Amino acid sequence: MAEKVYGNMGKILRIDLTSRSYEIEDSTKYHQKWLGGRALNHILLFRDVDVATVDPLSPENEIIISCGTLGGTSFPCSGRTQATFLAPLNYSGWGDTNCGGHFGPEIKYAGYDAIVIRGKAAQPTYLYIEDTKVNFMAAGDLWGKGTIDTQAELLAKHGEEARTMVIGQAGENLVRFANIRTELTNSMGRTGGGAVFGSKNLKALALRGTNPIHLYKPKEFFEITKKLQDDIMDPQFGMVHGMVYKLLSQYGTPGMTHAVGQTGMVPIKNWNQCGIWDQDKELVTYWADEWGIRRESCFRCPIHCHASYAIEKGLYPTRGGGPEYESTVAFGHKCLVSDGRKVLKLNAVCNDYGLDTVSCGAVFSTLMELTEKGLVDRSFTDGIPVEWGGADSMIKLVPRIVFREGCGDKLAEGAYRLTKPLGEEALRSVYHQKGMVATGVETRSTIGSMLQFAVSPRGAHHLSGLPTAEWINIPAVAVYTTGFEEAGDIRSYHPEAKARLVQYYENLFELPDSMGICKFPYGHTGMWHDRPEDMEKLWDYFVKSLYYATGISYTKEDLMDIGERAYQIERAVIVMRGIKREDDMPNWKCLNEECPGEHPIGPVPLPKIDKEKYEKVLDKYYEIRGWTKEGIPTRRRLEELGLAEAADKLANKGLLSGT
Ligand code: SF4
Repeated sequence: MAEKVYGNMGKILRIDLTSRSYEIEDSTKYHQKWLGGRALNHILLFRDVDVATVDPLSPENEIIISCGTLGGTSFPCSGRTQATFLAPLNYSGWGDTNCGGHFGPEIKYAGYDAIVIRGKAAQPTYLYIEDTKVNFMAAGDLWGKGTIDTQAELLAKHGEEARTMVIGQAGENLVRFANIRTELTNSMGRTGGGAVFGSKNLKALALRGTNPIHLYKPKEFFEITKKLQDDIMDPQFGMVHGMVYKLLSQYGTPGMTHAVGQTGMVPIKNWNQCGIWDQDKELVTYWADEWGIRRESCFRCPIHCHASYAIEKGLYPTRGGGPEYESTVAFGHKCLVSDGRKVLKLNAVCNDYGLDTVSCGAVFSTLMELTEKGLVDRSFTDGIPVEWGGADSMIKLVPRIVFREGCGDKLAEGAYRLTKPLGEEALRSVYHQKGMVATGVETRSTIGSMLQFAVSPRGAHHLSGLPTAEWINIPAVAVYTTGFEEAGDIRSYHPEAKARLVQYYENLFELPDSMGICKFPYGHTGMWHDRPEDMEKLWDYFVKSLYYATGISYTKEDLMDIGERAYQIERAVIVMRGIKREDDMPNWKCLNEECPGEHPIGPVPLPKIDKEKYEKVLDKYYEIRGWTKEGIPTRRRLEELGLAEAADKLANKGLLSGT
């Protein structure tokens, strides 16, 4: 191991729950090529697990939890945690998820770049890690408890300075869209990480660390991160930059709903309408003004996009961490629930049970459409009617899902698996890619977003690389990222412009997750997007901060290669699990139905996706990625990226012709 490691911690903690043992691995060999966080997780999972065949809910699966290279430092918004695993929800099987809060930095303070967990405990267990001491603790008393009580008990036992990561009853009962929670406001949602915890009889992690993070040039690092923070908070920095900062600070992500809806991108009524919904006032700003208690933030964040709220009176008393845009749209817009109190209640109940709100909302909105079409009736849901706007039924059904009681057993499989046995016509109502229903994005609105959602390895999700310059509608930055005028045209099917745009953002989005920093201010929401030179400034901050932190001179190109490498690993895994070109095609609704709705930019209704033109974009995207016409990575491209091992694994599975 290197004598002194800077920025990173230089160690990976490997825990085997079956044998109740652990060991330490040197991680310094990974930093140059994989940074840390998400990219590091990817290569570890790829090497450790037979990713082609392992059942996500078996002991052979791993869950790898990390922070990232800049996590836990003075770099603004450096409190992220990344988890990677084979996923039980989406049929592509790729699982990764990320959240804010304070847990990620504690991994580093405990002395590690990543914690790898495999095996299965014989009894319910939680891990209490104090620096080098790993304690396998009995969790029988915690099993059956919600995420709030579980965290409270862990803090009472191990001190308020401990950082906790827990599952609720949903994870224990292997609900395929169970999530992992930290504190009151942070969810590692999507793809079912909570069920992977549950399958291992793992209830929680509690960490306490006392190690410093050594910085290569601490003075320069502090100065640059201070300047970066000033730029983030500067209202004069740029119109879009300043507007995003203000909206996030004041109202969090729900405050951006109307900005997102400008091109029709907000889905309404299970993607049967889109754009601006005239009944969403209580969901987007009113709740924060009326019921909000205080703004909150993750580690070292000057934006504080989170909030806590309390409703003391009425039929829906509740309190907790405020919903994000995604939870708001999932229960509100997609299910036509306009009463803010009911959406807050659903959000709180799901958070306590450890249930992903996006996938839960998708189960309900899909069932509402199936009910309207006469394809199911209330007998399907134990006599409980599931109809548009019916929040009381949703509140009743959530516990059945969590405990897999009655109809809840099939609802716990998620919208795609729930609907598939009902036949092709029913499946048309499921707005999914690769078996995972989309987050709050109507992808017919912008062609780049359609491509990104369709090819996303874990299924329909914006955080895999939604092209910001396109949906924020900043043509100059779209040109900067691709060299093509057409990249910024939301309706253009220009193959190379759209393919390069999506590839750029996919690679870029791997980086914040690998550095342990938040995507909101660094690529996803429109900050640094007013002018091309602002994007250059952001790159300069990344490159210099990484050098001052680690002593490693990464160039912008090196960083984009790390993003590309991480993305190619995701692709190699899902191809080995059977994903084909047809799985990269838009879902049925996108290809066959136009979408009505009010929005000021772009055509009304949104046209269906032109299949012929889309196929040409997909061809070009594959070509740029270095994949075959079937979407399989080629040996040449993998070797260029230093991924011969991935090429060999694909070849061993008979998926590579050797070119
Ligand atoms: S912008 Fe929001 S999610 Fe990101 S670090 Fe800040 S508080 Fe956390």
